[in-house]
Parts: sequence; structure tokens; C-alpha cells
Amino acid sequence: MRLGVFGGTFNPIHHGHLRAAEEAREILALDRVLFIPSGTPPLKSRELAAAGHRLDMTHRAISGNPFFEVLDIECAAPGKSYTVNTLEKLRDLHPGAEIYFMLGIDAFLDIPNWRSPDRLLELANFAVLLRPGSRFADLMKSPHARIGQDVLEQLDEGSPESLRIALKTSREAVLLRNTPLAISATDIRRRIRSGLSVKYLLPENVESFIISERLYCAEKD
Ligand code: ATP
Ligand code: MG
Repeated sequence: MRLGVFGGTFNPIHHGHLRAAEEAREILALDRVLFIPSGTPPLKSRELAAAGHRLDMTHRAISGNPFFEVLDIECAAPGKSYTVNTLEKLRDLHPGAEIYFMLGIDAFLDIPNWRSPDRLLELANFAVLLRPGSRFADLMKSPHARIGQDVLEQLDEGSPESLRIALKTSREAVLLRNTPLAISATDIRRRIRSGLSVKYLLPENVESFIISERLYCAEKD
């Protein structure tokens, strides 16, 4: 089985996440994509909705896509969750599965700040998603990827659709030129705080949940 694993705060989940996951599923021929909203760290920021709410929004967002599933393994655990532990659990739950951990270029570049990066890069393959604001050429800054600048610049210019590169472990990263959608949860929260519309940036059933629970609006802070 080929398994995509998409972690994030999903605060809230939006069409940038959903479309990138759907395109990664097709390009990598994944049997399933597991969305795993993170737990709530002890020092949670005012802007971070409760884990239960983020889980609920993720369930709503993926309903209707038979390939997508939500896992509450990070949300259900108290305290901060670490991707390295999540991937170890998933390997036990799905022995023999080929796992692709999906993440945007921005998140891939942040891996050196995560817990046990070297171990993390041994546990799965990676699917690196294009995200407006970052370029594949930025991956030259990653201590984990082995790749030449010219190839990355060609990818930024539009070809090929995807590129497999070796990591410094025995794993690989697939760089995906998914449709760039300049949507971020930070921008969605800012619009809600300012009383602006967020229509078409995220699924309607997520928007209605945010409104009914009065998430991210200034008065609650
Ligand atoms: P925030 O602004 O709160 O950080 P976000 O929009 O970046 O929210 P996250 O939950 O932090 O969303 O992201 C989870 C994963 O999804 C990360 O790997 C991130 O790079 C990726 N991602 C988020 N938005 C997009 C997008 N528009 N296109 C591609 N990947 C995205
Ligand atoms: Mg983010």
C-alpha cells in the first residue's frame, strides 16, 4: 500500500492543503492520504483553535473524498506532538506500507528545527509540495537534500511535473509541481479577525463551522 501522510496544524484546513493533497495522491498513485492535525502544545498561542475543533474541521473538509482519512493520533495525545513519533507509530500500524510524508517547501526547509531530523528522514519518503512564496531553488539551503541548483531552477520554471531527488538518508523526496494556490491559514485568520470574507478559500462546511463556533474572531481573544 502507498500511503500519504499529511501533518499540520490545519488551523484551519483550507483549499491549499486539499488541492495539493489531491494532486500528490494522483501523481504518486497513493492508495490513501491520512490527514493528521497536530495536538495542542502546552503553551498554545491565542490563535490556535482547540485540537478538537481542528479535528472537526478536518473531518468536514475531507468528507466526500474516498481517498482521504483523518487520524486523531496527534490530537488525542496530550501535549506537543512530534512528527518523528507519529511516523514511528504509523510504521507499526501499517507494516510494509510505502509512506510519503507530504509537506510544503516552507515546512521541508524547517525540518532541521524539528525533533530528531536525521531519524525522521530515515522513516519515510517525502513529497514536497509547491507553495507560493517559496521556490524549489530554496531547497539548496536544506542540509538534507542532494541536488543541483540548475535542476531546481528548471523545476521552478515549469518542468518536469515532478522530480525525485535523493535525501542524505536512504530515502527520497519527490518534488511536486502542484497547482500553486496562495492560500494560508494565517491569512484566513487575519481576514476573519478583520471581519472580511473567507469564502472560496476553504470548504463551505469549514467556513460555517468557524462562524458557528466563533473561531478566530477578535472578541474571543
Ligand atoms: P499557518 O499560516 O497557520 O502556518 P498554513 O496555511 O501554513 O497555516 P499548516 O497547517 O501550517 O497551514 O500547513 C500544513 C502543511 O501544509 C505544511 O507542510 C504546509 O507547507 C502545507 N501547506 C499549507 N498551505 C499550503 C498551500 N497553499 N499549498 C501547498 N502546501 C501548503
Ligand atoms: Mg504553516
